[in-house]
Order: sequence, then C-alpha cells, then structure tokens
Amino acid sequence: MPTRDIAVIGAGLSGMYALHKLRALGFGVHVYEAGGDVGGTWYWNRYPGARFDSESWTYGFSFSEELLRDWNWSEHFSPQPETLRYCNFVADRLDLRRDMTFGFRVAAARWDETAAEWELEAADARRVRARFLVTAIGALSAPVMPKIPGMDGFKGEAYHTGLWPHEPVSFTGKRVGIIGTGASAVQAIPEIARSAAQLTVFQRSPNWCAPLRNSPIDAATQARIHATYPEIFARCRDSYGCFIHDADPRNAVEVSAEEREALYEKTYAMPGFAKWMGNFRDILIDRAANDTITDFMRRKIRARLKDPAVAEKLIPKNHGYGTRRVPLETGYYDAFNRPNVRLVDLRETPIERITPSGIRAGAEEHALDMIIYATGFDAITGGFDRIDFRGRGGRSLKDKWTRGPRTYLGLQIADFPNLFTLIGPHSAALFCNMTRCIEQQVEFVSTLLAHARDRGFTRVQADPRAEDEWTAHVHDTAARMLFTQVDSWMTGVHAEVKHSHGRTVMVYAGGAPKFRQRCEEVVASGYAGFELR
Ligand SMILES: Cc1cc2nc3c(=O)[nH]c(=O)nc-3n(C[C@H](O)[C@H](O)[C@H](O)COP(=O)(O)OP(=O)(O)OC[C@H]3O[C@@H](n4cnc5c(N)ncnc54)[C@H](O)[C@@H]3O)c2cc1C
Repeated sequence: MPTRDIAVIGAGLSGMYALHKLRALGFGVHVYEAGGDVGGTWYWNRYPGARFDSESWTYGFSFSEELLRDWNWSEHFSPQPETLRYCNFVADRLDLRRDMTFGFRVAAARWDETAAEWELEAADARRVRARFLVTAIGALSAPVMPKIPGMDGFKGEAYHTGLWPHEPVSFTGKRVGIIGTGASAVQAIPEIARSAAQLTVFQRSPNWCAPLRNSPIDAATQARIHATYPEIFARCRDSYGCFIHDADPRNAVEVSAEEREALYEKTYAMPGFAKWMGNFRDILIDRAANDTITDFMRRKIRARLKDPAVAEKLIPKNHGYGTRRVPLETGYYDAFNRPNVRLVDLRETPIERITPSGIRAGAEEHALDMIIYATGFDAITGGFDRIDFRGRGGRSLKDKWTRGPRTYLGLQIADFPNLFTLIGPHSAALFCNMTRCIEQQVEFVSTLLAHARDRGFTRVQADPRAEDEWTAHVHDTAARMLFTQVDSWMTGVHAEVKHSHGRTVMVYAGGAPKFRQRCEEVVASGYAGFELR
C-alpha cells in the first residue's frame, strides 16, 4: 500500500490546482477521482444549455501567465463543452494526469493515530495511505435523485442533469418531462423546448431567474481581455464574491423611486450577475430594500409571459429576489410561451407516481418518452457525507456535523488532523466566482503545509477553540443576511434530503476580501488556531 505525502480527492479545478501547487513545492502528491477524467463540475454536467454564470474571462486560472496567454474564451459565458476543453488544456499543459488515478471513488477515509496517516478506501476496496489528506470534492458534486414511487419501472429514457451521458441525447420528436426548476433546469429547458415534440416542466418551487445576456467575444475584445488581465483579477479580488460586479454603495431605501428604478433597469440590462451582485448594497440584508427589487423582478417576469396564469406560477412567493443564488437564463421565461411547453405546478398537483409510460400528477397521466431529473445536489456537505470520514478515536465526521458544519476557516476540522477541506462548508468560496477563491484556498493550504514540513512538523490540526470561534463568527456574520431565512442549498436544505440540522449556515457571508484578510492574519501570526506538532 503506497504512502504518499499528500492525497487529494477530486480532479476538478480545486484538485487540479492543489496538485500543481503542492507538487511544485516538492511534495509527493496524488489525486484520486471518481470520474473518468479531469474537470469536476464541467466533466459531469453535460446537460443541454450548461454554461457559466461567471464571466468566462474572470473564471480561468490566474496563476500562470502561460495559461492566460494561450487560452481564448469564445463567449462571455462559456458553454460546458468549452469549459471542459479548458480543464483538459490546463491538465495537459501542467502535465497533471501522471499523478492522477481516475475511477477511484473514495468511500472511506480513516485517520491512523499511530502512524499519523490517512488511509483511503475506494468503493471497490482499493486502499492508499497519505500523511495529509486534501479534499477537493466540490460543493455541487453529490447529485440527488428524488424518491418517487415507480421510478425504477419507467420504460423510457431517464437522466439526471448532473450525471448526463457522454453520448449525445436527442429530444427530437420526443415527449420530455423535466422535474425541478433550479439553475440546471433553467439552462436546459429552453434548449430542450427547441426540438422536443412536447416538454412538460414539473415545478416544485420557482426561482427568481434573470437574463444572462451572453454574447461571443470578438477579436478586439479578446485582445483587450488579454491586455487587462491584471486589472480584471484585481477587480475580482476586491469584490465581495470575486466577480467583476460590486455592489452600489447606496442603500435602495435611501434613494428616490426613480433612482432605484434606474439602477434596477441598468443592472437588468447588463450581462451576468450585475443584477445580483452589482445592485444596491442593502438588497440582500434589508427586507424593505429587498421588497423593491423583488417587485421589479416580478414585473419583469410578468412582462415576459403571454399567459398571466403561467406567469403567476413562475413567480416565487416564498422568498425575495437574490436570497437564493440567482439562476441566469437565456430564453427561460420565453420557453413557456411556446405551444409545446407546459408547466405543471406540483404545489397544486403533486406527483403521485412514475408509471412505466410517464408521470401521474393530480390524477392526470402525462405520457413521456424521457424523464429528466433536474433535482440538484446535496450541496456543500453532501460530498463529505458520502465518504465515511473517521478522525481521532474513530470519530465520524457525519456525526460531528449532525447539528450543522463546524470548521476552522472552512478548511480544517478539530479531531480530524492533517485533513484540509478545499471549498468546504463555512468558507467564503461558496458565494464566490469559484476559481478566484479556489486559488486563494489552495495557496493558503499549500503554504501552511510547506511551513509545517520545513519545520519538521508532521501534524497540523485545528484547535477546538479556534473552531468554536470561527463557527460562531460564521453564524454571526450570516445573521443579518436575508438568505438565512430561506430554504436553499446555502442554508443546507434540500427537499429530498433529510438533514438533522434543518436550516443552518453553510457559507461564510463576510465576503471573499474579509476571508482573505483573515487568512493573511492567521499566516502573519504563525498560524494561530492551528496546532503544529
Ligand atoms: C451546473 C453548474 C454550473 C456552475 N457554474 C458556475 C459558474 O458559472 N461560476 C462559478 O464560480 N461556479 C460555478 N459552479 C460551481 C462549480 O462547482 C465550481 O465553479 C468549480 O467547478 C468547483 O470546482 P471543484 O474542483 O472545487 O469541485 P468539482 O468541480 O465539483 O469537482 C469535485 C470532483 O471531486 C470528485 N469527487 C467527489 N467525491 C469524490 C469521492 N468520494 N471520491 C473521488 N472523487 C470524488 C468529483 O467526481 C468531482 O470530479 C457551477 C456548478 C454547477 C454544478
């Protein structure tokens, strides 16, 4: 059984950069990945319409001049196939695959106190050992299937958006049903509607969606992007979520109705998350402010739909705009104006069962050739729950987190020595333009590991008091945010997954700049909160 310095679980962007960075520091590193190749999210999510809601040119890795120089994004919001090509380009250029094993799904990770090592066990019982374990398992990587009677008996095609086949799927002439209207469905529905004979959308709870406004990148813009990468990344670095959009410093409730409407119209007309991250700074904190943007978005949705009854069904009633991650759309609402698209509101007519030939809801039989489960992910902690982590004294991570995650900086967990959790719960990355936050976290962890090694330490573990303090800080910081009052993956709620913690705080809401500052203070203090032995 080979023992490495460091094992990394996951070959998405986090695992790819972790491997590159740690290898460059002289560590023996190996990546174990369940899938068949690199890319993570962009490897698995091949559903029609899958694409960025980050501006492509803000998302790529910034650490290498060569990678920046030799890659051109063709659209402002890259489609999944191009992003997967980018992941392959990075893997090739950095020669990552020689230290990766694919088809290795980690089922268990056990801390061996005597040897001070982690032992990983794959689903097929292969085992490996490493001194340090870095998880790069993703926040949206544990797909959830609903539990509906009769699912196994369906005779047509059935797919989950997050486990989409590698072969092309044709919708032409087919009667397609899609369950769920989260971000993936919002991207997929307009694409499928174009060729399906009939598309029936089974909606459980509507989301506030806003126009993406994607466009190709012409040569002049491409040149400008290349020439201004330092400014682009500096701007991301200073913004709350590392996007190029930063909040307007005014409060919505303190300006006139005309000024308010003017900014809402302006950001609505802009591409990407401008209409989420670039709005008045109080819309995600103050209920009255949030009511103003919610009212604006309600009017926008109504204006897009021909049938007012359908519009009312598509308008969320249980949460304000922006208190869940906003799905960005291209032709989503317009799809419901098509004669071949039908909306079934499951709050009025719940699904009773899946039959061999379709879905029965509200005593009506919907005959289908294909069912698409757009039922999302057990977010943030789902990937952790699917691995049996055992720390000191055999302590189970799942048990430790029954009342919600407890972490130090979202990166370590007391009683789980030498384990580092990239993009873990309670880290700023979860609100983030992810690659920007992935770079910061990988750099923090790799610098800490080199620091420990260079001083002869073999153990790095979070001080339980530091964990208590950070966990309390995460909760305090989130308390004023409206998202904490809403069921969503940011609060650890999924309709299909019974979490004993109920609604909790999964993300650090202080923003990426504050998180980075805190990490810098920790480094400057000689790694306060981490015990090095
Ligand atoms: C459809 C979709 C669109 C998105 N769009 C954006 C966007 O526009 N902007 C943005 O910033 N973020 C976006 N995200 C978030 C996205 O997940 C991140 O941007 C980024 O790809 C995360 O990289 P990662 O390496 O941390 O995780 P992932 O890409 O999720 O990779 C994790 C890897 O770990 C592997 N793994 C998990 N568990 C195990 C195990 N037990 N054993 C072995 N391997 C395991 C998985 O197979 C996967 O390959 C999107 C996510 C989804 C699902």
